Amino acid sequence: MSATILSGRTTRDALIPGLIQRVKSLGRAPVLAIIQVGDRPDSTSYIKMKKAFGERIGAEVRLIKLDETVPQEKLVKAIGDLNTDDSVDGVIVQLPLPGHLNRDTAIEAIDPKKDVDGLTSVQVKGWETGDEKAVLPATARGVMTLLRYYKIGLAGKQVAVVGRSMLVGKPIAAACMKEKAIVSVLHSKTADLAAETRKAEVIIVAAGRPNLIGRDQVREGQIIIDVGINTVKGDKLEDEVEGTKLVGDVDFEEVKDVVAAISPVPGGVGPMTVLSLFENLLDLCEN
Ligand code: NAD
Repeated sequence: MSATILSGRTTRDALIPGLIQRVKSLGRAPVLAIIQVGDRPDSTSYIKMKKAFGERIGAEVRLIKLDETVPQEKLVKAIGDLNTDDSVDGVIVQLPLPGHLNRDTAIEAIDPKKDVDGLTSVQVKGWETGDEKAVLPATARGVMTLLRYYKIGLAGKQVAVVGRSMLVGKPIAAACMKEKAIVSVLHSKTADLAAETRKAEVIIVAAGRPNLIGRDQVREGQIIIDVGINTVKGDKLEDEVEGTKLVGDVDFEEVKDVVAAISPVPGGVGPMTVLSLFENLLDLCEN
């Protein structure tokens, strides 16, 4: 039997009216400011998606572009200016930054009250300790919303999270623990990944390795959330650059007739991340 497809697009489209309503109740357009250093095409494409989504719900996305060679002090100053600008509700420093810039210094410069990505130490402490008011990084929030939309409860379930990054793996693991799941965090030093993933009832993969999870790593009845976004050679599906296509960390064709449910790439966690970013923005406006 073929797996149920956990569609991020369907879920996002079902939840958009709620966001539009929240913007209406706010009585003004919430403002998200994004600082982009340099011109990375992948960053430009992510920013484009955020702008387009903002337009759909009536939020404003302001882009502040800084030169590739901008010194650290100037970047921190630009962040400080947005912190004190009362017309700005949320601030993002688009990652990754060029090598000469310190990412942690830049993130820490954001006022936690405007930290829509949930990466300042104040917000990290909040989500690590399960604080209701903490801003959970958007991808983690998106994963949890996708599971909830498909009525997949996590309490008492064995969940394997593959990946332990601050941006993705860790906040997903923290959010699953908050939902009372029994969580194992697997990573590049896990000796026998397949043995660990097969034990789980839910596998959430965020490793950035195409085909990491295939037939050998799964068993019947599992729920798979594929967070990975990898660019590989192939026929472009939609927004990709010519000659490339986007794939996740899961070999979809190999596992789709084995597992119970799976989120596709593209069209799974990606659309949920953008939605959740604006949910975070609205939370910051309302609190
Ligand atoms: P990262 O490189 O910071 O972290 C990758 C993690 O995967 C590490 O903890 C590493 O230990 C683990 N890992 C790597 N190889 C492994 C292996 N062979 N076996 C087990 N674990 C392994 O990456 P990240 O920023 O956490 O992003 C992970 C993936 O998620 C990337 O593909 C990224 O593009 C994608 N991503 C998707 C969204 C979305 O909206 N869908 C958002 C952010 C990131």
